[in-house]
Amino acid sequence: MAFLDQHPELGYPVVAGLGLLVGSFLNVVILRLPRRLEWEWKRDAREVLELPEIYDPPPPGIVVERSHCPHCKTQLSWFENIPLFSWLVLRGKCRHCKAPISPQYPLVELLTAVLVVASVWRFGFGWQGFGASLLSCYLVALSGIDLRERLLPDQLTLPLMWLGLIGSLDNLYMPAKPALLGAIAGYLLLWLVWWLFKQVTGKEGMGRGDFKLLAALGAWVGLNGVLPVILLSSVVGAIIGSVWLGMKGRDRATPIPFGPYLAIAGWIVFFWGEQIVDGYLRFAGLK
Ligand SMILES: [Zn+2]
Repeated sequence: MAFLDQHPELGYPVVAGLGLLVGSFLNVVILRLPRRLEWEWKRDAREVLELPEIYDPPPPGIVVERSHCPHCKTQLSWFENIPLFSWLVLRGKCRHCKAPISPQYPLVELLTAVLVVASVWRFGFGWQGFGASLLSCYLVALSGIDLRERLLPDQLTLPLMWLGLIGSLDNLYMPAKPALLGAIAGYLLLWLVWWLFKQVTGKEGMGRGDFKLLAALGAWVGLNGVLPVILLSSVVGAIIGSVWLGMKGRDRATPIPFGPYLAIAGWIVFFWGEQIVDGYLRFAGLK
């Protein structure tokens, strides 16, 4: 770590390469974790309903099984499995059956690499930079799953919250108290919005995963960051929503889930929250 810190010309390419590799793992998580959870929920539901067990083979695991073309099922060799480059060289098509390969693969890999490089650029080649990279990876996986499935799995949101709290024990970004209060405030604020909305309209306006994601972000941005995350997420939502509306037209405007907006806002506030709040206070003449 100290060596990479003194040689950033080596450090950044190494980190970018690791980011691409981790990104290709996150693609697998985004695609396979929801399948796996669904399978477990169905099995548990049959048990609770006391239905007879049926043979239903589990979907592929996240770590063990090798990648294959989703169309022709051919197993990919190592040179078809190099993050980003394989997709570019093969021009987004399977080498065997020529079926198009989703641009999700290179996009997630590239995004992860960019976010991880930004993490060490902002926080250095140490535990702080590593923590920021970990946060970035969790947010990529959560956003990807929420976009595809409208789901923010507890299996990701809860560990992310614990990681933030555990880091604060050792004062990684802040002391433990503001991190814990941030997690509590994050959960309660969105729960309150959800509860009020339900009382007024009789409908559930957002998923419970959103509270847990904001609780997790609260553990990373601290108590002072929670409100900026909520405000910024609605700004991000308004911008992306109107771009989407402009692209797809009003009748095809399927609402985008709230999780990715929270994730983008949380990432920005974690990286530049103090500067943003400071700049705003100066702008408003309060400082
Ligand atoms: Zn194929």
